[in-house]
Amino acid sequence: MKTVTEAEVLALIKENRSFVLTAHVSPDGDSLGSLLALYEFLTSQGKQVTIVLDDILPPVYRILPHWEAIRSVDEVGRINADLLIILDASTADRIGRVGEIVHAPTLNIDHHVSNRGFTDHRWLDADAAATGELIYRLIEKAKASLTKEMAINLYTAIATDCGFFRYANTKPATMRIGAELLAHGAEPNVIAEALETVSMNTMRLTVRALQTMAFFAEGKIAIITVTKDMLANDESTDELITYPRKIEGVDVAVMLKQRDDSSVKVSMRSRTVDVSQVALQFGGGGHARAAGCSIEGSIEEAREKLLAVILPKVGE
Ligand code: AMP
Ligand code: MN
Ligand code: MN
Repeated sequence: MKTVTEAEVLALIKENRSFVLTAHVSPDGDSLGSLLALYEFLTSQGKQVTIVLDDILPPVYRILPHWEAIRSVDEVGRINADLLIILDASTADRIGRVGEIVHAPTLNIDHHVSNRGFTDHRWLDADAAATGELIYRLIEKAKASLTKEMAINLYTAIATDCGFFRYANTKPATMRIGAELLAHGAEPNVIAEALETVSMNTMRLTVRALQTMAFFAEGKIAIITVTKDMLANDESTDELITYPRKIEGVDVAVMLKQRDDSSVKVSMRSRTVDVSQVALQFGGGGHARAAGCSIEGSIEEAREKLLAVILPKVGE
């Protein structure tokens, strides 16, 4: 694995012609916005570009320009390219089957502290609030024109990863870039309203999920649980973790989401505990204040395994 600079990333782009772009499964605003902005930048440089993601796309992000360019693994099949660029992912297993179908040297552009270094080239900046900040810097350094469509994608990428400029990862640079994106046509109210809109099913799920909230360690840990029988339709669970996170005295907020009878997806948010360390113990990763992993077993087993790691960290 070779660590590369911004300038070296631009050189890699210049000297190659065909690119495949991908990002992590469970796509979020940062991975999608970054992919679509980079897609437009590379296309504008005359490159041949394919975006492939190995997961279902959350429909709220349909507002993003170039959305229709995203292909599934089945649509793409096997593909050769000069370079596979992997965005916002910190380990090889985070891109699902994309690694198997694409034959190309690899470049990882990412901002996760937990990044393992799994590609031929890596540009990592753990101080960036979002991968979108890195894509913005790339476009700026290339002196390429920043279109309104790029601005919408990059604003979505950055705003969603820093809680719309509220989380601890919001730096002066994050806001300066945000301001530039507004100057280039991103409309924060339009983007925020589109992303805040939820389906009736999602609201019904929210009501049920909140009733599962349980507290541990004298209220320093709050856990909400979503079992697979609660998920019937197109519900989004993305915002659920924000509720336990708000509660006074809660340091670690957890959502346990059942995938199937033997696997549970874990999302964590914290005020002081470094939850990326917790996630790493289960083969996951993320950031100090927001991390995730999967745990094998039933919901009860996953909760016990997780509590065994978190309780000592909140002084229990
Ligand atoms: P989430 O709770 O899914 O919103 O994820 C919070 C953060 O942790 C994001 O930055 C994710 O990229 C990261 N993350 C979530 N799940 C995993 C995982 N299984 N492996 C590595 N990183 C993860
Ligand atoms: Mn992400
Ligand atoms: Mn990100």
